[in-house]
Amino acid sequence: MRKNLLNFEYDELIEFFKKLGLEKFRADQVLDWVYKKRVFNFEDMTNLSKEHRKILNEKFYIGIPKLLDMQISKIDRTTKFLWELQDGNTIESVALFHSGRVTACISTQVGCPVKCSFCATGQSGFVRNLKSGEIVGQILGIEINRKVKVGNVVYMGMGEPLLNFDETLKSIRMLNHKKILNISKRRITISTVGIPEKIIELAEKDVGVRLALSLHAATNSKRDEIIPLNRKYSVDELIYAIRKYQEITGDRITIEYILIREFNDYPEDAERLAESLKGINVFVNLIPVNPVNPNFYRPSRWAMERFKQILERHGIESEIRVEKGTDIDAACGQLRRRNLK
Ligand code: SF4
Repeated sequence: MRKNLLNFEYDELIEFFKKLGLEKFRADQVLDWVYKKRVFNFEDMTNLSKEHRKILNEKFYIGIPKLLDMQISKIDRTTKFLWELQDGNTIESVALFHSGRVTACISTQVGCPVKCSFCATGQSGFVRNLKSGEIVGQILGIEINRKVKVGNVVYMGMGEPLLNFDETLKSIRMLNHKKILNISKRRITISTVGIPEKIIELAEKDVGVRLALSLHAATNSKRDEIIPLNRKYSVDELIYAIRKYQEITGDRITIEYILIREFNDYPEDAERLAESLKGINVFVNLIPVNPVNPNFYRPSRWAMERFKQILERHGIESEIRVEKGTDIDAACGQLRRRNLK
């Protein structure tokens, strides 16, 4: 069976080439064609002999995801992609344009087992984990279809990256490798709903990327309602894990907090959040909920500002996130979900 070349890290590819009787510099040449010149057909790799091209064709395919749909916002160029994978499953990615920089928001799973009630992906069930090549392939797909260079990557698309830990870490090494996509680790963020032991493992393994925790509520009773996984890992365990993470890495942590009207937007919610985060160097992103679930409404601007001010009174920096791509299905899982119907 042919293998997806995008699943190979640099050292793995060299090893595999060795078994095929191909020298190390052949691996460099192929990576150069794929990741620099964007040539995805071995026949067109003209500095390889006919015989080598034949071997490569027999052993590999280059699994760029197939574009099924692309929506481009007329307001801010935010672009949503729906991809088809080799096995026919579909996933989404988003490209965000900000001050001349392109940020790719990528998926790590087909669907998601976490089932957060405010999330379209969570509502459509879980199918499987992505392979590293399917994660990296999304960046290539974005760059080819929008003719841009991705500068920042956030693991914030479909799926919980820490539930696909090994492939997520492998994809990070590939994004970062200078012969592959050469993206600085400091420009890569893992966003998680929180698996405490994996957060600590990220720090201990010195992965070197940035961490964002989707907290969304500071009490277990409220968090249980919107993130079923909270029944397994409590708010206290998560706060302990991010404290530990910061102790080890020294990094500032981003806290994502989706604001839902008359649910978690009260002054006491802000006070509790500030209390939980006491002594941790954080930045809080306040995100008005996307109306995926008809039971959730966005708070008024006034209520969001009030929340922000309370955090600031406690010395916690925050911002109310400006929404991107409001004229397209930009929230995670919306485009795929519509396509599944
Ligand atoms: S918000 Fe993230 S973790 Fe929760 S269901 Fe959606 S994709 Fe999964």
